[in-house]
Amino acid sequence: MSARPELSHDLHIHCLCGAVRLVASPPVLCAGHCHCDNCRWTHGAAMWTWITFERERVTPEPGSEPLVDYLSVSGATRSFCGRCGTSLAYRSADAPTEVDLSLANVVEDYSPKFVAHCWAGRAPDWHPIPDDGLPRTERGSSSPELT
Ligand SMILES: [Zn+2]
Ligand SMILES: [Zn+2]
Repeated sequence: MSARPELSHDLHIHCLCGAVRLVASPPVLCAGHCHCDNCRWTHGAAMWTWITFERERVTPEPGSEPLVDYLSVSGATRSFCGRCGTSLAYRSADAPTEVDLSLANVVEDYSPKFVAHCWAGRAPDWHPIPDDGLPRTERGSSSPELT
């Protein structure tokens, strides 16, 4: 399984209200599902499905409002729309050149090759991880288990 699924066109990422509109250009560096507590609380969902880009390859569309940053206690920055609250991006100090974006907010019909279920042990009982054949890790996406 390739950790760098090929994407040949730009992807557009919108928040719920449309005030924040981003364009992300290939390549996709990684993609996966995170089951950690912070992702669950940030997104109000059982897990967060993310795709990773180089930060310099993610730009706002003309007229887009800027994302609002929240520095979480873990040291990561989570960014959301200041109008509707949709959480769209995650940046870690461990990977200063990369940004993770919410796949659920991608406008195009794009399905990447996922690498893993991260923080698998944190998945809530009410939403067990599907038996989809992906590896499960007890850490984040930068874990040595995935490199
Ligand atoms: Zn919005
Ligand atoms: Zn997470």
